[in-house]
Amino acid sequence: MSGHVVLGAGVAGLAVAHRARELGTEVTLYEASATAGGLLDSFTVDGWRFDNGVHLSFASEPEVRAVFDRTPYAEHEAASLNWDDGRWLKHPVQNNMFPLPAEERTALIADFVARPELEVRTYRDWLIHQYGHAIAERWPLVYTRKYWTVDAGELGLDWIGNRMRRADVREVLFGAMSPEAPSTYYISRMRYPVRGGYRAFIEPLIEGADIRTGHRATALDWRARRIRFANGEEVAYDGLVSTIPLPVLIDIMTEVPDEVRAAAASLFASQVDLISIGIARPDVSPSLWFYIYDTDIMAARVYSPSWKSAANAPAGHSSLQFEIYSSPRNPQTATPEEMKENCLAALETMGLARRDEVVLLHHKTLPYGNVVFDLGMEARRDLVVDWVRGCGIELAGRFGEWAYLWSNQSFMSGRRAAEAMLRASDASS
Ligand SMILES: Cc1cc2nc3c(=O)[nH]c(=O)nc-3n(C[C@H](O)[C@H](O)[C@H](O)COP(=O)(O)OP(=O)(O)OC[C@H]3O[C@@H](n4cnc5c(N)ncnc54)[C@H](O)[C@@H]3O)c2cc1C
Repeated sequence: MSGHVVLGAGVAGLAVAHRARELGTEVTLYEASATAGGLLDSFTVDGWRFDNGVHLSFASEPEVRAVFDRTPYAEHEAASLNWDDGRWLKHPVQNNMFPLPAEERTALIADFVARPELEVRTYRDWLIHQYGHAIAERWPLVYTRKYWTVDAGELGLDWIGNRMRRADVREVLFGAMSPEAPSTYYISRMRYPVRGGYRAFIEPLIEGADIRTGHRATALDWRARRIRFANGEEVAYDGLVSTIPLPVLIDIMTEVPDEVRAAAASLFASQVDLISIGIARPDVSPSLWFYIYDTDIMAARVYSPSWKSAANAPAGHSSLQFEIYSSPRNPQTATPEEMKENCLAALETMGLARRDEVVLLHHKTLPYGNVVFDLGMEARRDLVVDWVRGCGIELAGRFGEWAYLWSNQSFMSGRRAAEAMLRASDASS
């Protein structure tokens, strides 16, 4: 027996099933983990709820809103802070330098005004071209190493889009002279479920879907259209969408040409170690989320689950989750205990909480966080993607397409893949 199959039951895979059902076709999802949801799943520890990293929704697509908005949600202002060497600065930091001593502001602005004209080939060039050497070296170049795990000179430009604020001399000057600089974050409001964690947004997709959890695909014969799983089961398929990481897919496929195998092996993503912390005091966090530039603090970014929803923590308590990034280019060498200790010390350094107020301390690793856009990655990825599609397999999602997709974009990617899979089936029948 065969039918339409999806590998992976994150939001992209779930959206494939949802769209296929709208078009009158049932699909079966095979998921390696014990639960569906992928990165959008949330987890509870002793009654505290955490997501897998910051997770707030800024979806604008009607198709996504039609599903996410079925869950009651709260809206938050998208305001964040930066911790830098003993100070809190508003975001984006180059537009909010007012708290710095006048000499420092002057030096940073003088260098910004005299920033060089240069050929922009790498993200490092882009940062220096936008902000000048002094601002770039003080903040974004440091943050890039913490978040992307590589030097900005090793990164390309395609991922930037509207994610980074372009430098504007008026904004830089205003924020250096006044503490009242307006927020310029590229999204102004963010949504989050009232209860149930971010996962609640995708519950309508999970309900009623045919999901086989505990099924890790380990071999895929694309000529015979058969998939084998680690638990010994095998299925045949008519149509297939893969949302599992592209390099993993290539590893399990048959008859892969050497150049495709080499290109896939060169793709890499960051890993995220999450340190989740419960604190016996309300309102510990200074903002919904914040960035950390200090290099002795391992985490690049922290958010507050209890700020996102009071239901995420017991009454009178608050919670934080620290995100620590690494990758095959800059592997994690610290143990979970060392990471926990580093986060506890950071809490005290930043003046947020004392150790004796911490009542929950939990570690978890996400093996796939962000696709890393090292130079020339897109061409190598496209070679792999084209070959896989030529084998009659559609690709969807952040790691299936190997792109910087937010949850709404992963959802839309799944819809498109469902339509492509069903078109191909219709054409061949
Ligand atoms: C730290 C962090 C913060 C984020 N914050 C936001 C945010 O604020 N807002 C936002 O919109 N987006 C955010 N995102 C992005 C969002 O998480 C992704 O776009 C989305 O979850 C990707 O969904 P997916 O289905 O493509 O992938 P995944 O969720 O990774 O799903 C893939 C699934 O495939 C399964 N799988 C893997 N290998 C196999 C195999 N061999 N066989 C079977 N199954 C397999 C996995 O277990 C997983 O369930 C964030 C991401 C990260 C990492």
